[in-house]
Amino acid sequence: MTTAEPAFLRETSHRRFNPLRGDWTLVSPHRTLRPWQGQREKAPAPVGLKHDPSCYLCAGNMRANGARNPDYQATFVFDNDFAALKPDAPDARFDDGLLVAEGESGVCRVICFSPRHDLTLARMGVGEIASVVDAWIAEAKALGARDDIASVQIFENRGEIMGCSNPHPHGQVWASRHMPNELLLESATQGAYFAKHGRPMLADYLAKELALKERVVFENAHFAALVPFWAVWPFETMLLPKRAISGFDQLAPDEVGALAAALSEMTIRYDNLFETSFPYSMGFHQRPTDGRAHPEWTLHAHFYPPLLRSATVKKFMVGFEMLGTPQRDITPESAAERLRAQATTHYSAA
Ligand SMILES: [Zn+2]
Ligand SMILES: [Zn+2]
Repeated sequence: MTTAEPAFLRETSHRRFNPLRGDWTLVSPHRTLRPWQGQREKAPAPVGLKHDPSCYLCAGNMRANGARNPDYQATFVFDNDFAALKPDAPDARFDDGLLVAEGESGVCRVICFSPRHDLTLARMGVGEIASVVDAWIAEAKALGARDDIASVQIFENRGEIMGCSNPHPHGQVWASRHMPNELLLESATQGAYFAKHGRPMLADYLAKELALKERVVFENAHFAALVPFWAVWPFETMLLPKRAISGFDQLAPDEVGALAAALSEMTIRYDNLFETSFPYSMGFHQRPTDGRAHPEWTLHAHFYPPLLRSATVKKFMVGFEMLGTPQRDITPESAAERLRAQATTHYSAA
């Protein structure tokens, strides 16, 4: 059932509940007209080189640990030379009342999306992106099958503004013995919803959004992209599958193609929004890899981009947002409208 949304959601300060994290977002639509004299980030310089001899991700180059990258043609996956998680960390526990710690082991891997140093997902072909999805599936399956891994977190940090120092298109996989905070939160909320309704929360949520259309950016045969009702970042989006899929291992071949096409379209729309190589942190949440079925879980991607009003003005998460509740000015509905209005051909090719 879908209820018409009341006017206060467009007009005055309110908070919206995020059922996936079980917390709130403050929305202040009346503030979008206030003058802005804040910081402007420098627009990132365009990357020109197809192969950079000093890049540790380019084919044939030497990495920090002395290993040489192969002459790879599509994707290339290797163990992070400076891994945050070590596989041999002991399964130990320290508990002294308020002071609690646990040994945390795991595996950190790097996935080069392409041998081309100068590309991004937005400027790669759908077939090339499908190779990246195939690499994600292979990593999710191999790492998820291990007894000492409860979570396989796949993500990409894009752009210097997001702390990504190397423009070479690449992402990461961090697989860990324990579930990370966000996965733990989303497991609890989806589990409680499934126990009450007998259906996955995100399947019901997607059905609602597809009926309303207001926050849907685009859809294809198997995936839909939308700005969540509770989005925190100005142009935050989620990618959701139209079928009940709980993890990468359940993607059918035509869904791999549809996911690649959706990633291509989303990143092109983002780049076109401010005619810049749009920075973001994006990643997938999938069911914990603890061997159980987890019918409550839906595989999905979050895009968290920091830009607010141009290639050089980003949103800050400070003050009330650090100490209270995340806050946004532009409504999720108007963000979706602006993303919907973007061309699906990359601006650099136009
Ligand atoms: Zn490179
Ligand atoms: Zn999630």
